[in-house]
Amino acid sequence: MSSAKPALRSAAADGASTGRGDSRTEDNPALAYSRTEAPAASECAWCGHVFGAADDHRNGRIRCSRCGVATTSPWPSDAQLGEAYAPWYRPAEGRFSGIGDKVLKRTRSTLAGRLQRVLPTGPILDVGAGDGTLIAAFKEHGRDAVGVDPYAAANHPHVRAVEFEDVTGEWSAVIFWHSLEHLRRPVRSLRHAAKVVVPGGMLIVAVPNAASMQARLFGDRWLHLDLPRHLVHISPQALVAQVTSLGFSVEKVSYLRGGQVLFGWLHGLVALLPGHPSLYDAIRRTEARESAQSPAFRLYTLGAGVAALPAALVGTAIEVAARSGGTIYVQARRQPDTAQSSGSSSSR
Ligand SMILES: [Zn+2]
Repeated sequence: MSSAKPALRSAAADGASTGRGDSRTEDNPALAYSRTEAPAASECAWCGHVFGAADDHRNGRIRCSRCGVATTSPWPSDAQLGEAYAPWYRPAEGRFSGIGDKVLKRTRSTLAGRLQRVLPTGPILDVGAGDGTLIAAFKEHGRDAVGVDPYAAANHPHVRAVEFEDVTGEWSAVIFWHSLEHLRRPVRSLRHAAKVVVPGGMLIVAVPNAASMQARLFGDRWLHLDLPRHLVHISPQALVAQVTSLGFSVEKVSYLRGGQVLFGWLHGLVALLPGHPSLYDAIRRTEARESAQSPAFRLYTLGAGVAALPAALVGTAIEVAARSGGTIYVQARRQPDTAQSSGSSSSR
């Protein structure tokens, strides 16, 4: 009780856990997830390659030797994913404590404003809209926007609880803002996007960059691994190649615009400390945390986050300059003359 340290160790190691996942005995989240009772992934969720000995088997995921994308393994059942998205993950009152939710809202508003200037006129479809924060921001900018998210029913008037592949119509833009990596068949979803985006319309994708410097440095503790909610772990090369093969011309790739780059560094640096504190958990509301945290441990975690800021800024600057940032943003336009998304040669 006299110092923070013993309290933290007991919170992390003895596990004041809420029973989510297996984190009470194993503080390496990827290793803990790898012990989940579910069949191993048998094929690459990105390219369909059947996994064998030549593929790179890591804790909680297998990296495909053909396309370089990693697939979460074991491959979670619908019930396991349902638990991973249970109401504790995204409570109706908001996910973050203090000003966190307000900051998120402000960030989304800035994003909507920036996209607003890039996207052609017409309706916008946000795939994996969650609680509809981005949709609401577009509406504030006077845009016609609709969201789909099978896991976020009824809590927003403009988010439909349907699968994206069931949505038809003609959209001037389809946005996957940190949602593609949550889908069981991400390439099928991109293919569907190519069908419903009008010629000249835009595809916007933001995903974690599994080939980034921070992903390689922090490994099993990388923030954006987020097993099992993230089912695929994508590289910029694989994403750009896929989007291009579907008849889009890539107009911009950014390693900063996808957001969460600096926070990826902060979380990763803090997780290197004794007790492997989770900064992401520490900034969430008590009821929205993966594991319970004692007040002392939380204070230690937040303090470490502040102390890590200079190093995280340097890390961010270096990886963004090296075009190896923690997230990938791709802005692509559907070519006017490609009605069919055949993968045939596109020499021009
Ligand atoms: Zn593959």
